[in-house]
Amino acid sequence: MASELKYTPMSEIPKIHDKAVATFASGKTRPLAYRRQQLRQLGKMIQENEARLVAALHTDVGKPQLETTVADLGPVVYAVVDALKHLDEWTAPDKVTEVPEWRASWDTTVYKAPKGAALFVTPWNYPYVITLGPLAGAIAAGCTAVCKPSEHCPTVSQALAELFPKYLDPEAYFLVNGAIPETTALLELRWDHIFYTGSNRVGRIIAAAAARHVTPVTLELGGKCPAVIDPDTNIELSAKRILYGKQSNLGQICVSPDYVLVPKSKQDEVLAAFEKVYNQFWPNGCLASPDIGHVISPAHHARLSRLIKSTRGEVFLGGKTVGERKMEITVIKNVPLDDILMEDEIYGPILALVPVDDVHHAARIIAERPTPLAVYLFTESDDVKEKFLERTASGTLVLNDTYQQLAVHEMPFGGQGESGCTSLPSLPFLPVFPPPSLLLVLTHPRRRRVPRQDLVRHLHAQAQ
Ligand code: NAD
Repeated sequence: MASELKYTPMSEIPKIHDKAVATFASGKTRPLAYRRQQLRQLGKMIQENEARLVAALHTDVGKPQLETTVADLGPVVYAVVDALKHLDEWTAPDKVTEVPEWRASWDTTVYKAPKGAALFVTPWNYPYVITLGPLAGAIAAGCTAVCKPSEHCPTVSQALAELFPKYLDPEAYFLVNGAIPETTALLELRWDHIFYTGSNRVGRIIAAAAARHVTPVTLELGGKCPAVIDPDTNIELSAKRILYGKQSNLGQICVSPDYVLVPKSKQDEVLAAFEKVYNQFWPNGCLASPDIGHVISPAHHARLSRLIKSTRGEVFLGGKTVGERKMEITVIKNVPLDDILMEDEIYGPILALVPVDDVHHAARIIAERPTPLAVYLFTESDDVKEKFLERTASGTLVLNDTYQQLAVHEMPFGGQGESGCTSLPSLPFLPVFPPPSLLLVLTHPRRRRVPRQDLVRHLHAQAQ
């Protein structure tokens, strides 16, 4: 049952801010013992309420249990365990040793001070990891924090509002619920760091608000992530991995493959491969599958339906929309570069296949467009890999897979240009994702599972 989301009264927002600032100033959140205890509480909050949190997300987005456990709750536990494991190392002072001889006798110790009160404004698509992962970072850093999750997953946001004060220090960690007015009120206040995940459009509003107080900001944004199929690669495997990446969360992921640049010489083979894989994945049609969730809102559904109706491409697979939230995974072929499908991030279950001359043409197209969060290149050729490394920019460049880069927590993640900026946090404000490098290459793509049971056991071990 969807629970009604109670918005935080506007009059409470400045008071919550002031409490977060005052608690930080009191020094309460600095001792490592306090940080450890709050981290364990955050882990316990997930573990003891797993069933409720899974059910809440199923109510809001129709997300299957396995996906929530593995891709949304598991990574929060991971972030907690990781922070507990590394806290001493992360917070220990560093010594700068390589200084000119005449300064060698000076004390060059670098101490790491927490930044202060942090604000997190987060989206609905992975509401747990995107909200609570960075919160684990803030706790580990000794900061206080206010989280503003999305109003579009009301059951989840209401559950978090009830659980926060039961598990976390109510003087240091707060949850504000609401929509644009509440977020606007939060943004008028002065924070020591703002961490925003969401659309590029709202990212600009956040950056402008942060600039008023010269507040450092992390922007994890979206964009159109292209996939490219090199003619000499395994086309069926490429189609399978692209379609797998697309169907996850019904394409409502910042790193979903948005469009595929297909060399004209192999178009028929690529189409046949997509058709084969589609029928293997969903022999009874994808709407019959319990693993397929729904589109987040009727408004979003209407936008996607309009895209299918207005495109100049041809619906090749799927295309059916049902009611106000259900929609088939839809593959559209022969999409021109200036089509409506190529304007904004699709952020839904539509995959556009765009014919191109060759991989060189594909690289030029990517380089000319706003820098995406990820580029997925399917190739066996070292020359082509080199070319894409040199000539395209993206938050991540992934070879021969889609979306799996999110499962490798140890590797950097973040945007570049229009897909965001993870302003290198001054230590020890620790975001869930390590600072990004400009690229990330998975040369041997593997399917990795988060070893959740191990993580949970590990957490217990840490807690003793
Ligand atoms: P959104 O930008 O609409 O909302 C995100 C948050 O911003 C919510 O908490 C919302 O209440 C708030 N918000 C919305 N409009 C606002 C306004 N005018 N002023 C102030 N606050 C406002 O994003 P969404 O629809 O929830 O998420 C979709 C976008 O997020 C996609 O573009 C996707 O690619 C991106 N995303 C990026 C990442 C990443 O890690 N880079 C992860 C998930 C989603």
